[in-house]
Amino acid sequence: MERDCPVCGSAQKQLIYTQKFSQISEGSLFGGYDVVVCYGCGFGFADNIPAQGEFDRYYQQMSKYENEHQGGQISPSAQETYDSIVRQVKPFLADENARIIDVGCATGGLLAAFQKNGYGDILGVDPSPSCSKTAQRLYGIRVENTPVSEIPRYESLFDLVILNSVLEHIRDLDDSLAALRNLLKPGGLLWIEVPDVSRFTELTSAAFQQFSMEHINFFSSTSLTNLLHKNGFETAAVWHNTRRLEEIQDPALSTLFRRSDGVAVNREYDHETKRSLLEYLDSSYQADSGVLRIIDEVVESRRSIIVWGTGTHTQRLLATSRLRQADIKAFIDSNPNYQGKNFSGVPVLSPDALAGMSEPVLISSRLYQNEIADEIRTKRKLPNEIILLYQSWENQP
Ligand SMILES: [Zn+2]
Repeated sequence: MERDCPVCGSAQKQLIYTQKFSQISEGSLFGGYDVVVCYGCGFGFADNIPAQGEFDRYYQQMSKYENEHQGGQISPSAQETYDSIVRQVKPFLADENARIIDVGCATGGLLAAFQKNGYGDILGVDPSPSCSKTAQRLYGIRVENTPVSEIPRYESLFDLVILNSVLEHIRDLDDSLAALRNLLKPGGLLWIEVPDVSRFTELTSAAFQQFSMEHINFFSSTSLTNLLHKNGFETAAVWHNTRRLEEIQDPALSTLFRRSDGVAVNREYDHETKRSLLEYLDSSYQADSGVLRIIDEVVESRRSIIVWGTGTHTQRLLATSRLRQADIKAFIDSNPNYQGKNFSGVPVLSPDALAGMSEPVLISSRLYQNEIADEIRTKRKLPNEIILLYQSWENQP
């Protein structure tokens, strides 16, 4: 479905790039999207994507935010991010009685960080039923199961609404922001953290990874501000943070907006996003060349392989590289939501299945490459040859 600009409503847009994904047997959102920039205001977004209802179903069924493989526990790097968010927000809250809601809270790690700092009046909302069970089990935090686009109304309004790594996933932004504004007391605060398009190039870890299946809005501070001012908010603070995610670094645009009475009509043209996206494409093509060379070697050797990882990283490579010509015996993924499905008839198996297989394992993930390699060698003590697409984990300091 075509999408008018979510910031200014214009239907005039320039195509920058087409991202393609190979689809898993069931539960795939789509086979790709167009990255476009709006002529009217300069905002960058994914075009020709399904309706919001399809995204809602996807996040209920295919959530990858459950951390099943670590008992729902968050990683040390996520903990660091959550503690840093609490430090940044705290000076803006009157006291520890502030009423806080985290929309799209996953397993409740950020709310737990607020709880640890003395905030007791907290509530989470997440589409995944498994996430809410985990939040209750680990932290005693209540998490209601609702798609982010169908936020209920609450009798008692909130001082702080948190949208952490959520707004880049939402198709119908005006509808969601109107619902979120209704959750806030007059003058209440909205925390939004999204990937920072202005620094995609600076922190390129894997090629085209910012154009993931789930990220459909590419915000700069100018475009995010335009969107929020149009929806009845005023700016309280803007930060450009760098978040550690396992062993990579991610550029984050972190902001606080305040619920205001009026709606601002003046808009600033976003001159930054188109240039940033074009630079990011350049750096992605460069970053991809090493990966493609390794895949070519594997294909030309005619060896049978196993591919560990079935996320965006693999789905893009299957759609765009020679990986689909490789003799792939099976895919492995630790996320139970993917197991039992298949790519063109090749099954997705649990890591336990690897014990009976002798083929080399190609690890297809930048974020979790080292963790997976370590799981194969150290945790599972398996002798399979490991094929890495990025710098060897053994050679890292
Ligand atoms: Zn626009």
